[in-house]
Amino acid sequence: MRKLIVGNWKMNGTLADLEAIGNIADVAEGMEAVDCGLCLPATLIGVAVAQFPILAIGGQDCHMNESGAHTGCVSAGMLKDVGATMTIVGHSERRADQGESNADVNGKARATRAAGLDVIICVGETEAERDAGKAEEVVLGQIEASVPGDLGTDGISVAYEPVWAIGTGRVPSSDDVRAMHAAIRSKLTAMLGDAASGVRILYGGSMNGGNADELLAIDNVDGGLIGGASLSAEKFAPILQAASTK
Ligand code: PEP
Repeated sequence: MRKLIVGNWKMNGTLADLEAIGNIADVAEGMEAVDCGLCLPATLIGVAVAQFPILAIGGQDCHMNESGAHTGCVSAGMLKDVGATMTIVGHSERRADQGESNADVNGKARATRAAGLDVIICVGETEAERDAGKAEEVVLGQIEASVPGDLGTDGISVAYEPVWAIGTGRVPSSDDVRAMHAAIRSKLTAMLGDAASGVRILYGGSMNGGNADELLAIDNVDGGLIGGASLSAEKFAPILQAASTK
């Protein structure tokens, strides 16, 4: 399976950063063995699509409805309209900051697929949940409720992102990543059948140029969702390079 490496710029980036996006596009163009995407703030999607057609550009969230009285929200159809090809849904920062439930995330994933975009559905345990020995139970529960099991596998990826590893510089042991990704694969197979072998399961949480090689070599780690290290070509390139050799 080709690796998928996606940058999540979060609430970072203005028009002044188009040069950085262009530098990333240049790096991605040279990495034919890897699928590469950048999930940008909504304000930058249209202009980035127009200027850097080589890059797959995505959103970081969408509403579950197509349109209507939802001030400040963006629908999956609107993302598609400006040229996005994917979106993240259920990122832990949205689950925490906006109180998004698994049912919300499920609705957003459905809306994304209905609009014809690929979707990356995020799951992950908090540190307290891991310390209590509940990491797998929590993550598999999120998968069960957040992944629309009746939609098949086309265009669906899952990102396992331990909340405590996001933006902290801390990363789970390779054994813990291996065990969680294997458990997610089994859960997806139970829900979606044999086609679940084609669903890419990304790891996210402080992946960088120093640890990408080890993380991306783990069974069932089919790519990465990258926050901080996706903000410049200098930091993102070694991750793409590591993925291209797997
Ligand atoms: C993320 O927010 O999806 C993420 C993985 O962030 P970071 O790489 O900065 O930990």
